[in-house]
Amino acid sequence: MANPVVAVVGRPNVGKSTIFNRIAGERISIVEDTPGVTRDRIYAHGEWIGKNFNLIDTGGIEISDQPFVTQIRQQAEIAIDEADVIVFIVDIKTGMTDADEQVAQILYRSNKPVVLAVNKVDNQELRSEVYDFYSLGFGEPYPISGVHGIGIGDLLDAVVNNFPDNVDNEEDDSIRFSLIGRPNVGKSSLVNAILGEHRVIVSNIAGTTRDAIDTKFTTEDDTEFTMVDTAGMKKRGKIYENTERYAMLRAMKAIDDSDIVLVVLNAEEGIREFDKRIAGYAHEAGRGVIIVVNKWDTVDKNNKTMQAFEQIIRDEFQYLSYAPIVFVSAKTKQRLVNLPPLIKNVYDHHTKRVQSATLNDVLMDAIAANPTPSSNNKRLRVYYGTQVSIQPPTFVIFVNDSDTMHFSYERYLENQIRKAFDFTGTPIHIIKRRRK
Ligand code: GDP
Ligand code: GDP
Repeated sequence: MANPVVAVVGRPNVGKSTIFNRIAGERISIVEDTPGVTRDRIYAHGEWIGKNFNLIDTGGIEISDQPFVTQIRQQAEIAIDEADVIVFIVDIKTGMTDADEQVAQILYRSNKPVVLAVNKVDNQELRSEVYDFYSLGFGEPYPISGVHGIGIGDLLDAVVNNFPDNVDNEEDDSIRFSLIGRPNVGKSSLVNAILGEHRVIVSNIAGTTRDAIDTKFTTEDDTEFTMVDTAGMKKRGKIYENTERYAMLRAMKAIDDSDIVLVVLNAEEGIREFDKRIAGYAHEAGRGVIIVVNKWDTVDKNNKTMQAFEQIIRDEFQYLSYAPIVFVSAKTKQRLVNLPPLIKNVYDHHTKRVQSATLNDVLMDAIAANPTPSSNNKRLRVYYGTQVSIQPPTFVIFVNDSDTMHFSYERYLENQIRKAFDFTGTPIHIIKRRRK
């Protein structure tokens, strides 16, 4: 379920982000870019020979006000904490440096598999120099050129070979959700308040780091939930814990590992850039989303306050128009009982399958009410649609020419599908496919 995580480490300028982009860029996303979403270049998906993984560029996690050496050391520590496999990058042009050796020392003490890549080996002549790096102690160095795309396949073969064996062999039907938000919005308070109300099943399966930070509980109707990364939020007291980029990285990891994401906002402080980034990431990752406005007890209210706040959220998160909003207080426990049933409800929508016949009735009615547009003298024809997957619900719609289906008509069809079937809380994907 959770993808293995690969971290790229090395001192500045060795080519980390070049290689990150090369590995991540080759994956073609079916999801179109969402307007209003700022993407973070520190965390991305990768795929190699059918294996999916997530990739971290530790160079993107700047720890401000720290000397150079401390920074790269902390980046290496983050890699050790967060990754299953580490790609350690050095630079043939500069040769081995003290900083490389220091990074090597830190990595060497960890138990994580390390694959050593020597970058900027742009031509054959340089290859013979690669063997100098054997002395770093990570076995055979892989010569690569990030810029020219040389050697990346062999490197990825080695990375994939080091993936841990699948630890997720036990059946788990529980609904996985996470509480995501900036520091101090009240995540830990919410976690404790929610767990305080329910029967917690301690499921600390030996040896797996993930289970150690997940908490399973059941509600009275016997629905099983897994709260993702509960302990991880406060796991370490290290300096980098408070850096926003690191918080972002942890948030993205937890989102990947969840079915449903509770985006926690602080009613006292309103919406910040961080909130938008994580919400955007959850949306693009296709997760179910619930917006939770915490600390509602601190707000001076009249009968219009909630609506006004809701409007601000709708304006700021336009792409999340499907997400329910709840106003809660971890302190007074106001409306917290509503959360598990709401999560269950969104999960049901996230995993819902609709019959092709019913779907096509809806599509044909939609087309009758609002005929398909034409462009370049060509009229769009919609033949039929079918749901191909869940989590999120994904529909393939067969058309005569996928280019003539503009965003606005696609949006119209999505709205009609949403009207006919309740998909509250979940994004839905529409894939246009050409059929002659
Ligand atoms: P980072 O600081 O480790 O993320 O390094 P960057 O990816 O920003 O790269 C630093 C510099 O090295 C840039 O000018 C890149 O164009 C260059 N570079 C990266 N990969 C290669 C490569 O394979 N060959 C050569 N010649 N230059 C490279
Ligand atoms: P986290 O960093 O997101 O996990 O936030 P915490 O749960 O540690 O909460 C940060 C601070 O906000 C603490 O002082 C909490 O007591 C306070 N807090 C959390 N939830 C609420 C709430 O609903 N109302 C009020 N008034 N304070 C809250």
